[in-house]
Amino acid sequence: MHQMTLAEIARGLADKKFSSEELTKVLLARITQLDPQLNSFISLTEALALEQAKAADARRANGESGALLGAPIAHKDLFCTQGIRTSCGSKMLDNFKAPYDATVVAKLAAAGAVTLGKTNMDEFAMGSANESSWYGAVKNPWNLEHVPGGSSGGSAAAVAARLLPAATATDTGGSIRQPAAFTNLTGLKPTYGRVSRWGMIAYASSLDQGGPLARTAEDCAILLQGMAGFDQNDSTSIDEPVPDYSASLGDSLQGLRIGVPKEYFSAGLDPRIAELIQNSIKDLQKLGAVIKEISLPNMQHAIPAYYVIAPAEASSNLSRFDGVRFGHRCEQPKDLIDLYKRSRGEGFGPEVQRRIMVGAYALSAGYYDAYYLKAQKIRRLVKNDFMAAFNEVDIILGPTTPNPAWKLGAKNSDPVAAYLEDVYTITANLAGLPGLSMPAGFVDGLPVGVQLLAPYFQEGRLLNVAHRYQLNTDWHTRTPTGF
Ligand code: GLN
Repeated sequence: MHQMTLAEIARGLADKKFSSEELTKVLLARITQLDPQLNSFISLTEALALEQAKAADARRANGESGALLGAPIAHKDLFCTQGIRTSCGSKMLDNFKAPYDATVVAKLAAAGAVTLGKTNMDEFAMGSANESSWYGAVKNPWNLEHVPGGSSGGSAAAVAARLLPAATATDTGGSIRQPAAFTNLTGLKPTYGRVSRWGMIAYASSLDQGGPLARTAEDCAILLQGMAGFDQNDSTSIDEPVPDYSASLGDSLQGLRIGVPKEYFSAGLDPRIAELIQNSIKDLQKLGAVIKEISLPNMQHAIPAYYVIAPAEASSNLSRFDGVRFGHRCEQPKDLIDLYKRSRGEGFGPEVQRRIMVGAYALSAGYYDAYYLKAQKIRRLVKNDFMAAFNEVDIILGPTTPNPAWKLGAKNSDPVAAYLEDVYTITANLAGLPGLSMPAGFVDGLPVGVQLLAPYFQEGRLLNVAHRYQLNTDWHTRTPTGF
C-alpha cells in the first residue's frame, strides 16, 4: 500500500479498494517502524490523522470526490498548524503551538488531505543538508550516511522512503528542488506569490515560497492544486486564476524550445552529473523538444547577492523571537537585556545566529549601500537575464545541484562550501520564477536531479515537461533499498 502515488491513492479511494482510514493506519505504522532510521518527522499527529481520515471516508460515502480527499500528507514544520507544535526545527519554538492554521494547511485540510505529522527541517529553513535542525540531522534513505538535502530534508526523506506519498515544503533558495534532487523526488517551487505565505514562518519574505514534494510530476500537480491560489491575508499573494494543473499534463513537447545556459557547465559541476543532464536533454529531444544554447551572464553573482539578501531579511524576520513576543525564554533573567540576550543565545543554533549577524551587518548604516543595495541591483540583473532568455526559449534546463548528496558532517566546518552548492537553485528565487527538479539518474548510487525553469505562472508547463519525461523514463520509479 505504501508504494502508491497520490494519483494511485485517489483512484483506489474512488474505486473503494481501501479506505483512507486503512491507508492512514498502514502509513502511521510504517512511520513508527522506519522513521527512527531517518529522523524525518518532528511530530506525528496520529489522532488528527485518524479523525481526518474518517471524515474524508464519510465525505466520499456521501458522494464527494477529489484527488486529495483522504490523501495522506505531512507538512514541513514551518507551516502553522492550530494546536500542534510548529517548531521551525528550532529550540526557539519547541514549545510553540500555533494558534491558527497556515492558509496552505487550511486549504489542504478543506480538500480532505490527511495530516500525518510535521516534518524535520533545517532550523528556520537555513541550510542545504538538514543538519542544522535542533531535532537532529535527517538521513538520506538512499544512503544513511549521506544528507537528504535541505532545508526540506524531512519532507524529502519521508516521501523518498515511502513513508507517505507527498508532503509540503518551502523553497527560499532551493529547499524544495535540492532535497528533491538528493532523494530522487519531483519538487516544484512555484512562482513567487502563487502559494500563500500566510502562516508559513518567514525566513526571507521576498524569496520564500511553498510548494509540493512528491515522487512524480502528476502528484506535484495534485498537491499544488490544493496549495495554490490568491489569499487576501498575504499581501504578496497574486490574484491570478489557478489553472487545472493535472489537465496541463497532456500537451505534446513537439517544438518546445529548451534553453541550456552555457554557464551551467562550468568547472564546479561533477562531470558525471553533466553527462546525466546531457542524457535528459537527448530524451527530451526525442520527444520533440528543440535545444538552444543560451547565456545567463550574471549567474556568477547570484550566490553572494542571495547570501546578503536572505540573511538581511532573516535578521529582521527573526527579531520577533526574543523570549517576550515569541519563543524560548531563558531562566531567571537579571534584567531585560539579559533576557533578550540569553533567550536568543539559547534558542537559536549557530547557523541561525551566523545569518542574523551577517544580515544585521549588511543592513547597518555605512554598509547598507555597499552590500544590501548592491545585492538588490544584482537581483535585478539576474531577473533581466531570465527575461531575455525567455524571449527565446520556453523553458530553461540544467542540473539542480553541482554534486550529489554529501556525507553527513562533510560541510559542517565550512558554511561557505555549503552555500556554493546552491548555485543552480537560488537564481529562480531571486527572480521569483517557478522551478522544478525531477529525477535524472544516479551517481555512486545517489540520485541526481535535472532542473527546469519557466516564465512566471508557467507551473503547468514545468509539470507537463516533467510528466512527459517521466512517461518515457523510469528514474523516478526507483526505490531506495530497505524502504
Ligand atoms: N540553502 C539555502 C539557504 O540556506 C536555501 C534554503 C531554503 O531554500 N530554505 O539559505
